[in-house]
Amino acid sequence: MSYKLFIPGPIAVSEKTLRAMAQPMIGHRSPDFVALYQSIQPTLQKLFYTRDPVYLSTSSAWGVMEGSLRNVVQKKVLNCMNGAFSDKWHDVAQRCGKAAGALKFDWGQPVDPEAVRRELSTGDYDAITFIHNETSTGTMSDIIALMAVVREFPDVISIVDTVSSFSVLPIKKDELGIDILLTGSQKALALPPGLAIFSVSERARQRATRATDRGYYFDLLEFQKNHENGMTPSTPVIPLIYALKSKLEDIEAEGIAARYTRHVRLNHTVRDWGFAKGFKLFPDPAFGSISLNCFANTRQVDLSALNKVLKSKHGLVIDGGYGKLKGQTFRISNMGDETDATMAELLLALDRSLLELNV
Ligand SMILES: *Cc1c(COP(=O)(O)O)cnc(C)c1O
Repeated sequence: MSYKLFIPGPIAVSEKTLRAMAQPMIGHRSPDFVALYQSIQPTLQKLFYTRDPVYLSTSSAWGVMEGSLRNVVQKKVLNCMNGAFSDKWHDVAQRCGKAAGALKFDWGQPVDPEAVRRELSTGDYDAITFIHNETSTGTMSDIIALMAVVREFPDVISIVDTVSSFSVLPIKKDELGIDILLTGSQKALALPPGLAIFSVSERARQRATRATDRGYYFDLLEFQKNHENGMTPSTPVIPLIYALKSKLEDIEAEGIAARYTRHVRLNHTVRDWGFAKGFKLFPDPAFGSISLNCFANTRQVDLSALNKVLKSKHGLVIDGGYGKLKGQTFRISNMGDETDATMAELLLALDRSLLELNV
């Protein structure tokens, strides 16, 4: 059974990427691995807009999301919550035994910088988490405005999730003063799942030195120590690193600016299609994501029936709503390698499937 995913993660992986993974294994302490690791640093640093090292974690994004808390939160963390992933981050902080404040917004609303300022002004916090692009609701917060507020509080270490927005648009880590910027392999980068990629500021590492319970697997200082030798703390998922190298070559070949433009264009193509069909965006339209569209199911389409037709007749799959939004929203990804042609193919198949359902 072969079909193509247009859900917002994991997303479709190209044949080229799959082939890149199928290379012979090398020892993770060998000069060959060091060469591989070091060869991808320059492009990674370019995409992170950083001079800090970029680490590779053999885990999904959650590993680094949890690990970051364990490394830097000593007083209290402020969790900005506006969707399924950011809500869960608060739960994870509590499970790690951290004092945590919940700054809640309705799903579909962005994180409000003024509310962040009010909360951080209490002086209670030494860290903040937020998600740039809440994939569950297709909501993209204003990262520039948020970081301008966070920078007013020099004791607060920022941990920012860009799992579904990294490489979709410029996110300038150093310029914005982001301490820990993280992403995962299976969303915007169009790689298979299993690798998290993150960059950490010097001051976040300084903070980590004072944490006595940072554990081992996600210890930022272990990542740094090994990075200095072109390696990772434990045996990494080498096939995914081959895939990452191949993907970075693709990105360089397309041109980073062209990649950003493509994502905006494809996103609007899908949005316009949805509007023409009589659907509305679920999030506040001023904060609609540019890596996916989350539509409100304003026409009460039977989404599981729609996906059944789409999959069986056209070999394509979209998402029928995340968590509590199941059935009420649907999401279409335009991340990764999608082109005008592949999006047009999906929209045509959707048209035909809707017709078949008489909607
Ligand atoms: C998918 C996703 C995650 C979780 O990633 P895992 O790979 O399952 O750990 C976290 N944050 C955002 C914004 C996501 O879209």
